[in-house]
Amino acid sequence: MPQVQTVRGPVDTAELGPTLMHEHVFVLTADVQQNYPGEWGSEDDRVADAVEKLRKLAATGVRTIVDPTVIGLGRYIPRIQRIAEQVDLNIVVATGCYTYDDVPFFFHHRGPALNAAVGAEVPDPMVDMFVGDIRDGIAGTGVRAAFLKCAIDHQGLTPGVERVMRAVAQAHRATGAPITVHTHPGSRTGLEVHKVMADEGVDPGRVVLGHSGDTTDADHLTELAEAGFVLGMDRFGINLDTTFEARADIVVEMCRRGFAGQMVLSQDASCYIDWLAPGVMDLLPQWHYTHIHEDVLPYLREQGVTEEQITTMLVDNPRRYFENVGTY
Ligand SMILES: [Zn+2]
Repeated sequence: MPQVQTVRGPVDTAELGPTLMHEHVFVLTADVQQNYPGEWGSEDDRVADAVEKLRKLAATGVRTIVDPTVIGLGRYIPRIQRIAEQVDLNIVVATGCYTYDDVPFFFHHRGPALNAAVGAEVPDPMVDMFVGDIRDGIAGTGVRAAFLKCAIDHQGLTPGVERVMRAVAQAHRATGAPITVHTHPGSRTGLEVHKVMADEGVDPGRVVLGHSGDTTDADHLTELAEAGFVLGMDRFGINLDTTFEARADIVVEMCRRGFAGQMVLSQDASCYIDWLAPGVMDLLPQWHYTHIHEDVLPYLREQGVTEEQITTMLVDNPRRYFENVGTY
């Protein structure tokens, strides 16, 4: 029976159940938080708040969340372990690096940056870091990452973005762990991902193109789905530059075009994200963990999306994505 690693240990992929494929527990700027902890407040209060919000999510029937919080987003697994102990939900964690332009300074003078100086190809230490998180666990916690994450935004395939993407692809080849890429479909960055993944020999079926649901360009999404990628329709509730209907209607349209087997649903929500000033969340009243079950699924059903298609997107596609994980 194939298994996937979660914060509480391995789970049979058949037991993942309804799965939200891109939800954070926390998104934090770690060194700012270490020095200016005033807004964060008490660790116990934040943990209790997360437990309460995730219990509400579990009450909708969701069994698993997939959390792509990696380097650059404040990943801290001991805190997630405390929360996972108190919530009846599988939490799947990631390894990788989140940047839209350059690699973090830690990596500036390591790995390929030294090629010219030593006159040889120096392996990227990121690859071993990612592989270690997947095979051995993260920072001595015993919790193993089950998937890989990188990003490309409107800046495109900068040297730093490409370096991380290739390291992620190489760690994928070494471990079989699937990949989620933050993309910017308005700049058609999925096509850049396609080029790099093809060059690295990665099957697009093992890659979620995150934030595909930010666009309403069905032809572009069709092109990416036909290339074999999984489309992350994963920002329901972030309706600043778009609307609830626009996000939902593109899912309806892609189902109509026959791509339910290549979409996953999520909200990219979190219990606390320090990127937003207090009060900004008030502008996004639907951006929370239960929006899909409370608002989106009823709308999709009204628009003719079948129960079978919903199960495909929430259960079968996530299960298939993780099917090879845990065998290495
Ligand atoms: Zn995210």
